[in-house]
Amino acid sequence: MKLVDVPAATIRCRNLIAGEWRDASSGETRDVVSPYTGSVVGTVPMSSASDVAAAVESAHHAWQSWRRTPLKERTQLLFRYREILLRDLDLLSHRAALEAGKTVEEARAGIMKGIEVAEFALSLQNLDDGGALEVSRGVTCEVRREPLGVCVGITPFNFPAMVPMWLYPIAVTLGNAFILKPSEKVPLTAVLQAERMLEAGFPKGVFSLVHGGRETVEALVDHPLVAGVGFVGSSGAARAVYTRASNRGARALCLGGAKNVLMITPDADPDVTIPGVVASFTGCAGQRCMAASLLVAVGDVDHLIDGIVERASQVRLGRDMGAIIDHGARERIVHDIDRAVAEGAKLRLDGRAPEAPEGYAQGAWLGPTILDHARADMECATKELFGPVITIVRVKNLEEALAIEASGTYGNACSVFTSSGAVARHVADRATSGMIGVNVGVPVPREPFSFGGTKTSRYGAGDVTGRQGVEHWSWLKKITTKWQMQGDATWMS
Ligand code: NAD
Repeated sequence: MKLVDVPAATIRCRNLIAGEWRDASSGETRDVVSPYTGSVVGTVPMSSASDVAAAVESAHHAWQSWRRTPLKERTQLLFRYREILLRDLDLLSHRAALEAGKTVEEARAGIMKGIEVAEFALSLQNLDDGGALEVSRGVTCEVRREPLGVCVGITPFNFPAMVPMWLYPIAVTLGNAFILKPSEKVPLTAVLQAERMLEAGFPKGVFSLVHGGRETVEALVDHPLVAGVGFVGSSGAARAVYTRASNRGARALCLGGAKNVLMITPDADPDVTIPGVVASFTGCAGQRCMAASLLVAVGDVDHLIDGIVERASQVRLGRDMGAIIDHGARERIVHDIDRAVAEGAKLRLDGRAPEAPEGYAQGAWLGPTILDHARADMECATKELFGPVITIVRVKNLEEALAIEASGTYGNACSVFTSSGAVARHVADRATSGMIGVNVGVPVPREPFSFGGTKTSRYGAGDVTGRQGVEHWSWLKKITTKWQMQGDATWMS
């Protein structure tokens, strides 16, 4: 069975700078390998500081007229872009699936969520009317929202379309010029997005694409003309980028990794809980920052855990769940599972040696894995494994569950499955994570609500997307004006 479209020829990705497609000036490239096939499907340029400087300077030039283009005119281009993405949804979904290892349905859902952010940005023309008030006789205070200037977005491999779209539709609509530095593991979908931004009519330099790795990111973040940074990735890199950008006064919001906690209670509805938990830890093969990773079982919930094991054992690789990003990541996760077992966790479901889907023997496959009776201080209960693995810690009561949640170094998401409104409310009140779910395994806020965690899951103020995204990519100019009738010319009276 064919799981994803594979292009006939290798795709050569290039940078988009000043509206032109260019290779890295050094000529250096890296292979793009599909998690499905284990084969090279593209090449990506590894850009240096001189490529970055060219992109930033052209973006800065483009910004001079873009910032003066009325909001309603800027918005029209984003309307067109949205239509083009919907027209090409199949192509984008297959390309994102091919390079990130997702199922095509998951890739499509990610693109639609990205489009939802664009739709929020489209509504800004009707919402963002600023404000003005006569503060004393003849004196008016007025506030205007201004773009920051050249902004950059640095994004991870796991959502090739959605995470970039958390950032650039709002930033560009507000009048910024934007440079995207996608993950070097998934540059193909970013190229499709950039081509379509050009087709929609965004002026040259308003949207640019610069590929590369850490060196490219550092050159972007250090460039004095870059005023705003949005980063999404692992916590170590998020912290490094945040420190670097904010040290020189650039505005930065950097989202990091996660170890999301799901609590299940004896009164939870099995029909909601079992599919909710399994979808949360196996969706996107566990490679999403909202995936359930630590299941805290409160009291006697064996019937729920048996149901979770049974349902997870039926997940079909390739059809229901995609592949791990590469063989290196797959081996790292297998090693983490080995270690958890050696430390005493009980393996209820072992996905370490699954059968590959027919025709995809070279892919990086890992089946759903359930580690039961782990201790809360074990590595499998505290570290982000970023695979389809869930660790179960058993506790006697809700207080113990809340203490485990609070002790985590990450603070992205926490969900509780219960039939009690009082329990749900207690968890929502006490949990320390930025995003809380009640009977929802993946509590992603929808627009216009913003997305973001706490602790090491986020460095910087505010959240991405929604109303908080508007605050991040703009600043407020306050204008105080005094006009009084003073002249004695006869026409004035
Ligand atoms: P990553 O940190 O390896 O890479 C993310 C981006 O940063 C890439 O563009 C990469 O080129 C760049 N980068 C990597 N190391 C860097 C460094 N030291 N300095 C500067 N830039 C660097 O992350 P990944 O493996 O691509 O993605 C998975 C991670 O992203 C997971 O930890 C996941 O939880 C996290 N994530 C978080 C969110 C969120 O909203 N909090 C969303 C998606 C993914």
